[in-house]
Amino acid sequence: MIRIRQLKLHIDHTEAELKKKICRTLRIREAALLSYNIRRQSLDARRKPELFYIYTVDVLISSEKQVLKKNRDKNVSLSDWKPYEYPQIGEIPMRHRPIIVGSGPAGMFCAYLLAELGYRPILLERGMPAKQRAADVENFWKTGILNPNSNVQFGEGGAGTFSDGKLNTLVKDPVGRNQKVLEIFVEHGAPEEILYVNKPHIGTDVLVNVVKSIRQRIIANGGEVYFHRQVTDLSFSDQKLQGLTVRDTVSGTEEFLDAQTVVLAIGHSARDTFEMLDYRGLNMEPKAFAVGVRIEHSQKMIDKSQYGRNRGQELPAAAYKLTASLDNGRSAYTFCMCPGGYVVNASSEMGLLAVNGMSYHDRAGTNANSAVIVTVRPEDYPGDGPLSGVAFQRALERKAYAAGAGKVPVQLFEDFCNNKASTELGSIQPQIKGGYTLSNVRELFPEEIGNSIELGIRAFDRKLAGYGAGDAILSGVESRTSSPVRIIRDETLQSNFSGLYPCGEGAGYAGGITSAAMDGLKVAEAIAKRYRPFDKTEK
Ligand SMILES: Cc1cc2nc3c(=O)[nH]c(=O)nc-3n(C[C@H](O)[C@H](O)[C@H](O)COP(=O)(O)OP(=O)(O)OC[C@H]3O[C@@H](n4cnc5c(N)ncnc54)[C@H](O)[C@@H]3O)c2cc1C
Repeated sequence: MIRIRQLKLHIDHTEAELKKKICRTLRIREAALLSYNIRRQSLDARRKPELFYIYTVDVLISSEKQVLKKNRDKNVSLSDWKPYEYPQIGEIPMRHRPIIVGSGPAGMFCAYLLAELGYRPILLERGMPAKQRAADVENFWKTGILNPNSNVQFGEGGAGTFSDGKLNTLVKDPVGRNQKVLEIFVEHGAPEEILYVNKPHIGTDVLVNVVKSIRQRIIANGGEVYFHRQVTDLSFSDQKLQGLTVRDTVSGTEEFLDAQTVVLAIGHSARDTFEMLDYRGLNMEPKAFAVGVRIEHSQKMIDKSQYGRNRGQELPAAAYKLTASLDNGRSAYTFCMCPGGYVVNASSEMGLLAVNGMSYHDRAGTNANSAVIVTVRPEDYPGDGPLSGVAFQRALERKAYAAGAGKVPVQLFEDFCNNKASTELGSIQPQIKGGYTLSNVRELFPEEIGNSIELGIRAFDRKLAGYGAGDAILSGVESRTSSPVRIIRDETLQSNFSGLYPCGEGAGYAGGITSAAMDGLKVAEAIAKRYRPFDKTEK
């Protein structure tokens, strides 16, 4: 196949015009063009309001050799695209079926591949199936009544289900895991365009059904999936895993499961499980992450700034990504930007409050929101144990809960700069899932963090005019940006207890839906390379 890069067309081009451009670039007649695959589509707004799409395509033509021989265009070459490489299957017989703890992207994709390869995995999830979970989350946002096991962080699909479902990642991908993850999402109902658009996203309304379909495939391939099952303990002997204790979070009953291979894909908010793992002597360490606020602006303002015009029908709600190195040595950056989205109360513990963001697939909300966060490191945390970062998060979230009287504390940027509580809104109406209270968000943070957030927003205002408007809305606290803990794993991806595989964001090896799913595939490959599929006759 031949790859063509930098194919530039006006945003309202037709498919026929793309084909024509391909043929003109390769100097071939249209009849010689057998097929083409779009590998990348990105928006070029450098000459806004004139907007263009830049394409990378792989092309199948009848006269490939001749065309390449005559070719002088540096954007034309042989394609290096290759499909995902399945792992070689190992030899060691399995005594027990592999158990995966957590049905977030990491656990789900790990189970998906192990089931596809015939290992009949058992997937345990402390939360509820997607439909029940959606009801629990809506109820929380309406009444403030939190279900500590079925909420924005816990349940089928993991933390990413109530999100914007942005799928871009910076993780290097030598074996095609990124593409494989996107292909599996498309196979289970995600829009085809995620395979090639520069900033792919699914949206919560679509994601809920995609995770259900993935679950059904795991079961169809011989896996089993259990909800409201929380792993509350692990047992070891001679540094080897022996089994785990599972509590039914509905009935309260407990059972013990013999286990030889367990994947810990528990996410960044499983603090009670982190405490159990620390107590059981698992090697863990505190990890740097970031904290801050979520900021809201009118989406129209962001569209104008990014496109130089209104977005009309043909353009998606505009996004932005901003960073600033601050004089105090810290850096501030925007994170998990949700165009046309909502700020959500993303809490998972009673009396503690954390926010995050989400959008629906159409991103049609009136506001744009994003986290504005500042990096924090172990030296910022109280104490120095592996869970000191968790303690740092909890302290911020406890203050946020108090400041908002159980609802999301909200403040205008001008009041944030004056460190005084807001009493009225300006031109922007908060778009928040879960109630909110006008309050003083700045006082939630240690002084240096509060200063860094203000300096960051002022720096962003110089890059995106209007970003630092006095009536921009800030809500707090954004504290679950990534895991505050890393669970140490060796080159076989096992912990200091053999048979236990730390995986995904909670273990400190991923940040985001796609990279967590890729880490799930990576751990599944490691297990498959070691063991041969579980065979009933080998009891
Ligand atoms: C509101 C929100 C919006 C987000 N938006 C995006 C986005 O747009 N794009 C993006 O890339 N990332 C986004 N993220 C981050 C993304 O969701 C995570 O990076 C990703 O889900 C991590 O995947 P994971 O599988 O490692 O962990 P998780 O998704 O956190 O899944 C862990 C699962 O383990 C379960 N579990 C925990 N403890 C136990 C136990 N003891 N027993 C049994 N089960 C247990 C939990 O219930 C949970 O379902 C968002 C996160 C949130 C909260």
